[in-house]
Amino acid sequence: MSGRKSRVSVKLRPVWAVWLGLGLLLGACVLSGSADAAQRSARGELKRVLILHSFGREFRPWSEYARSIKAGLEQRSSWPLDIQEHALLSARFNNPGPEAPFVEYLASLYQGAPADIVLSIGAPAARFVQRYRAKLFPDTPMVLTVVEERLVNRLDLTDNDVVVSARLDFMAVFDNILRVLPDTKTVGIVIGASPLENFWIDQLKQDLKPLGNRVDLVWYSDLPFEEILHRAAKLPPHTVLFWGLMSVDAAGVVYEGDIALRSLRAVANAPIFSYQDPFFGDGTVGGPMQLTAEISRETVDTVMRVLGGEKPSAIKYAPIEFGRPKYDWRELQRWGISESNLPPGSEVLFREPTIWERYRKQILLIAAIILVQAGLISGLLHERQRRRVAEVESRQRFAELAHANRYSAVGELTTSIAHELNQPLGSILTNTEAAELMLKGNSPDLNEIRLILADIRRDDQRASEVIRRLRSVLKKTPFEVKDIELNETVREAVGLVRAVADGRRITLIYTPVLVDLHVKGDPIQLQQVVLNLIINAMDAISDASTGRREVSVWTVRISGEAEVNVVDTGPGVPASDLAHVFDPFFSTKPQGMGMGLAIAKTIVEAHQGTISATNQQAGGARFAIRLPLLG
Ligand code: ADP
Repeated sequence: MSGRKSRVSVKLRPVWAVWLGLGLLLGACVLSGSADAAQRSARGELKRVLILHSFGREFRPWSEYARSIKAGLEQRSSWPLDIQEHALLSARFNNPGPEAPFVEYLASLYQGAPADIVLSIGAPAARFVQRYRAKLFPDTPMVLTVVEERLVNRLDLTDNDVVVSARLDFMAVFDNILRVLPDTKTVGIVIGASPLENFWIDQLKQDLKPLGNRVDLVWYSDLPFEEILHRAAKLPPHTVLFWGLMSVDAAGVVYEGDIALRSLRAVANAPIFSYQDPFFGDGTVGGPMQLTAEISRETVDTVMRVLGGEKPSAIKYAPIEFGRPKYDWRELQRWGISESNLPPGSEVLFREPTIWERYRKQILLIAAIILVQAGLISGLLHERQRRRVAEVESRQRFAELAHANRYSAVGELTTSIAHELNQPLGSILTNTEAAELMLKGNSPDLNEIRLILADIRRDDQRASEVIRRLRSVLKKTPFEVKDIELNETVREAVGLVRAVADGRRITLIYTPVLVDLHVKGDPIQLQQVVLNLIINAMDAISDASTGRREVSVWTVRISGEAEVNVVDTGPGVPASDLAHVFDPFFSTKPQGMGMGLAIAKTIVEAHQGTISATNQQAGGARFAIRLPLLG
């Protein structure tokens, strides 16, 4: 049936599909003979492929070849395929019984509808199909595959047969063993006892003659597999195992699949070598070997050509040689075989991926995250550094500004300072003159002179004190925090402006609280704040005002805080300005800079304190500073 027809039938209702199926079956029964098969082939209809296995469908290595060939056929065939498989069980037995019933079975099976092609896998199957060709498949093309060159029965080949053979080079396998493990002294040869295996024992003995006495060969063919396992577990050093075949052991036990090799691998204390690709990856070290893929590809190729109508006699192949040596990385590791011992051009498979290969994505992701994080961190550090620099710069600017502000405040104190200095200097002058006069006399009163000198010294100290205070206010010192007594600090500030107040006819009253107020702070800066507040208070009392002209300064202790109040009898701060008086450059004075209160606020806040401005009910402004008390 063509692919198109089968697509149409898919759309049929099930009941019609059943009828159609029955019809086709009937048709298939009616059609008989090779002529009909040829006709069907010509029309591109279903192709029937008969596969004959040598030992069984699951016998390694043949099972792997069969699997690969079937997969190739299904992939490459343009015809629908009906693959029918049979296993030649008789090859298993050391003394094969009569094959007749099996032949009869096949004959009756294919009498009416012979296959389009017969495919034998392995030497026993090839022998069988050749022997019974006349009876079973007289006109059917046959492909004899997976058969060693030495086992091909060329005498009985017909024009309708194609051989896909391989050549086993045992010397190459043993040379490889001695190359990768040069210290090898003994090779244990694991092989079964079926007729096929017996054939290979002879061939091996023949082929390995050139080895001479380079290694001892120990043959396990006459041992039951159990005994082989027993011996393999305690092999002497420098021994390796050569895995030939293990289909049927000396005790007649049949080993299907990969059980035998797996059991041997589990107990053996020596590396296992094999030339068979299907065993590679299951515990054999590797080396030059027969390649499943290559034999399968050539077999599938042949089947396709024959099904396509090519004459089998026209298709000829040279026997397939061993492929490029390949090794199992895990076995190399296990037996400590260095890769430098491998022949050039070898392939190493099953290499365990490195951590990088296994977790490449995750590693890249983590690396990317770390990189991004590192970028962010360095960005933040850079930002912090910049902020620090900016902070230092701003502190520097502030210090300079505060200093300038102090200068301007002190400028306003010139009169006061001159007055304060004039007084002691004047007294010194008067006292000196008096002393001179006394000394001019005949009997100067030394006691009096001593008292005059004491006065002079006291006045000098007063003048020095004025200058010291002034210098300390004007000193360009960094912010210096120490334990201070606030009443005293305020007193000094008041002292500095007293003369100014006098000059302006303003009464300056200072009333300190009777307890000591210990705070942590920079006395110069706090004095600057108090000075600013007193000067502002005096500025608020206009020269023309004739009312009460008074500035009161007092300190008070309120729970854990010290408060300094500066109150005047001026007009107070307009309500709309109260929120702005501490803003930089806010001034209502014609020559004002508007920085005095802004600086005062910054200084107070740097001392963890607060500053506030309110108006008194009785009139006038009240500025209050609060600072946390020590202890
Ligand atoms: P400046 O004295 O240079 O103007 P300040 O920052 O010291 O700068 O003061 C800002 C403004 O606050 C003053 O211009 C004034 O308007 C107001 N002000 C300050 N103290 C008083 C006060 N005791 N009474 C009324 N207004 C005041």
